[in-house]
Amino acid sequence: MAVSNLDKLVKYYHENKIAHVYLLETNNIDNCMEDLKKIIKKFFCQTNYKDDCQECNICNLINQNYLPSFKIIEPLGNTIKKEQILELKKNFSSLPIYTKDNIYVIKNAEKMTASSANTMLKFLEEPEEHIIGFFITNNLNNVIPTIKSRCEILKVKYNKHELDVDSVDDLLNNEFLKIAKEYIYKLEVEKKDSIMYNRSVLLNKLSERESIKKIFQIIIIIYNELLNKKLNLVNKFEKFSDLDYLLKLDVQNILFKIKILNNFLDDINSNVNLELLLDKFVIELSDKNE
Ligand SMILES: [Zn+2]
Repeated sequence: MAVSNLDKLVKYYHENKIAHVYLLETNNIDNCMEDLKKIIKKFFCQTNYKDDCQECNICNLINQNYLPSFKIIEPLGNTIKKEQILELKKNFSSLPIYTKDNIYVIKNAEKMTASSANTMLKFLEEPEEHIIGFFITNNLNNVIPTIKSRCEILKVKYNKHELDVDSVDDLLNNEFLKIAKEYIYKLEVEKKDSIMYNRSVLLNKLSERESIKKIFQIIIIIYNELLNKKLNLVNKFEKFSDLDYLLKLDVQNILFKIKILNNFLDDINSNVNLELLLDKFVIELSDKNE
């Protein structure tokens, strides 16, 4: 679901144009790790990888972190230690058996100690064939410069308010979808009653802040799909056919609304009064609707 810079790596890999080592800067390390695993499966899959290949041994081994030619190094305690890098070097001193290349991932690269970075540098300076490395960090500035300078840097950004659903299809079964759609109708069609709705439905039925957050996350997904449709990009807006009335909105207007929705989600995480926040949201939104 991320706007991913990673996808192009699959093409590079199959065209033998992949670099020896990449540094991925991301605002969500876990999401990035998951997406990178999918990319590596696409490198190695024996059966034209489709989403979540269950057929081939390689993908299964990667899923279980058992593929000998794929190693993930994570901080032990709070640091990545020299011994971990030495062990990696040892593991990758011979050519891989089941795959064309050995691939390692250093998760939280900013947590390498000076001595593990030194060991790593020697590893990087004598680049052996058939070894590809990925460093992942949430802050480029904290990665030791001598490591950074040897890497190709890629940014992997995630929408910070992304809902925990893999796809629009998952969303269709979400318990909050109906309320989200009702709310959109109030905001876009009935307009005048939205503030009432804040009290009678949102605050009345959903006492939990978390539930209200989910409603707003769902609405953002819907508007993003709408935006993609308006821009003729790949989208699944047809899954929300009962919201076709939104198609009359122009791109500017949709972008504005996505911004206001994101602002709301920023604010809801601070401890402001929820009722006031919802009213502020409706007022800001309706300014644009007049
Ligand atoms: Zn596979």
